Amino acid sequence: MNDLKEFWEWGLKLEDPWKVADVSYRDAGGEQEVHIRLDVPFGMKVRCPECGRMCKVHDRIKERTWRDVDMRGMKTYIRADIPRADCPEHGVKQTDVPWARPGSGFTLLMESMIVSMVRQMPVRTAGDMLHEYPNRIWTVVRAYTDKLTEGLDLSKVRRVGVDEKCFSGRDSFLTVFADLDTHRIIFVTEGKDSGTVGRFKRFLAEHGGKARKISDFSCDFGRAYISGIRKHFPLSKITADRFHLVKMANEALNDTKCGELKLAVNRMKAMYLLLRNPKNLSCGDLVLRDRICRDNEVLGIAYRLKESLCSLYSMGDVYSAEQHLKGWIQWARMAKMYHFVKLADTVEKHAAHILQRFSSRLTNAVLEGTNSMISVIKSRARGFRRTESLISMCYLVSAKEKTDMYGRSV
Ligand SMILES: [Zn+2]
Repeated sequence: MNDLKEFWEWGLKLEDPWKVADVSYRDAGGEQEVHIRLDVPFGMKVRCPECGRMCKVHDRIKERTWRDVDMRGMKTYIRADIPRADCPEHGVKQTDVPWARPGSGFTLLMESMIVSMVRQMPVRTAGDMLHEYPNRIWTVVRAYTDKLTEGLDLSKVRRVGVDEKCFSGRDSFLTVFADLDTHRIIFVTEGKDSGTVGRFKRFLAEHGGKARKISDFSCDFGRAYISGIRKHFPLSKITADRFHLVKMANEALNDTKCGELKLAVNRMKAMYLLLRNPKNLSCGDLVLRDRICRDNEVLGIAYRLKESLCSLYSMGDVYSAEQHLKGWIQWARMAKMYHFVKLADTVEKHAAHILQRFSSRLTNAVLEGTNSMISVIKSRARGFRRTESLISMCYLVSAKEKTDMYGRSV
């Protein structure tokens, strides 16, 4: 028996004053379980959680249980009465146990395993495999991601990308902020209004960042983010993201009513040819595209308007780009196509932000890249639509450094 105790003391890496008091095997509905009871022997001192001083034991609180990683397929539990330290400075305080996070029902080793599993599979599947309720798995995921965000140092962040992401249904949006220099997601919050920028400012300040040091933001053309940035980061320059401009140009083309079309291919294929970047089309497709534009005058003009706006980014300098943009706005208004006239108004309103791209060279490509990540997050969080769960999963999936609950790299 003493060998068994020593084995577990070694296995659990126990240090003074903790000792293994007892190891027992129990039958729980036909399943074998291992229960290891730990104790602080009489007369030994325990650490005050506030100051770290070794103090005499005042009393012990009722036995608590933590689930550890399974031992050869048997559920393994650690049990202990937790001593309360009698600190001369801080009074009677419950000592922290070295094998678990305060308040958790799992050991740190078990929590590390849960985090590793959730990186690879949906929370529900991890719960099924471990025979644990998914809500208990979520508490571990949230504790881990809280730890990840607590340790963030944002003092070096200078250029920030902000974008909305739709997670479930039309009303469930999160706003994601990324450091455009390190390509790291640094803050995720609920909603897509201007208040999200205010929350980012507070988060930045809590993690060593300063609003006046943020030189640039890259965002979409929506009023919400731009007004939020102007209010909370008045010194920052705003770059309207090129992906959003290209997207709006494509939408204007797609929505333009062109009447009865003469098409050499079905409509879906025709729109595919017109909406795709011509650089990615084969010679045959280019010939087909030209034929569609020649045979359908209105569609042809709409297509040229779209391509002309997208070609803005091939301009070599801001002066040429400005002239190109002015010419385009005039042309779009003269063409009198409703969706392009509307787009011309938006482009004119945000011309300064669009042209800022030629100085800042910023894009939200890193945030657009997260779109594939979103499907992973949705799959990991399937069945759990609570916003906090989705936010936690965003941090977990996007974390570049993989660490365990001990903070060690894995
Ligand atoms: Zn103390």
